[in-house]
Amino acid sequence: MTERIILCDFDGTITKTDNIISLMKQFAPPEWEGLKDAILDRSMSIEKGVGDMFSLLPSRQKDELVDYLLHTATIREGFGDFVQFAKEEGIPLYIVSGGIDFFVRPLLDGYGPFAGIYCNEADFTGPFISINWPYPCDGECGNGGCGCCKPSVLRSLSIPVGAEVIAIGDSVTDLEMAKVADKVLARDYLADTCNELGIPHIPFESFHDCVEALREGVRA
Ligand SMILES: [Mg+2]
Ligand SMILES: [Zn+2]
Repeated sequence: MTERIILCDFDGTITKTDNIISLMKQFAPPEWEGLKDAILDRSMSIEKGVGDMFSLLPSRQKDELVDYLLHTATIREGFGDFVQFAKEEGIPLYIVSGGIDFFVRPLLDGYGPFAGIYCNEADFTGPFISINWPYPCDGECGNGGCGCCKPSVLRSLSIPVGAEVIAIGDSVTDLEMAKVADKVLARDYLADTCNELGIPHIPFESFHDCVEALREGVRA
């Protein structure tokens, strides 16, 4: 059987909504909206925009931020079963996220084990939050300033030759990994964009849909 690996996005995919947006709506002064718009119209890189957004939040709010997301963020239906399915099938499951460690890890608590969690990191030692980017764009990324560069992470993994790469995501930051994946499970913006660009993909709403799609892959 072909070896398979899964790269799965976090915000808007594993959680139903984007956690950075949730935090900014609740805690940031209004300037954050201009930064969000600049990221979306691509006049500012994700790295610069997200870094600047978090620099609006005082470090002393850390516990409040985590608490807020633990109480408000919702994990998409079927995720636990999906993790279990990957484990049973022996498919390494990597979480590759443009989110930040201080909320990605607590929200995933109790769901592992994962083959790896790749995300950005927050530094709370200064008066305001600063973000570190441990997984920047490699020389092959034509985009630049991705923050956590998903195709670069993919290239850095030791993937067996001929393995099938499965990408799961919802948004613009997943597009580059979708382009290089063998199978794409997509929702929302990513599904629309795959449609526009003619990238074959399987739409999903819950992780039960994902299990089903990958089970069919087992039989094929
Ligand atoms: Mg996402
Ligand atoms: Zn990049």
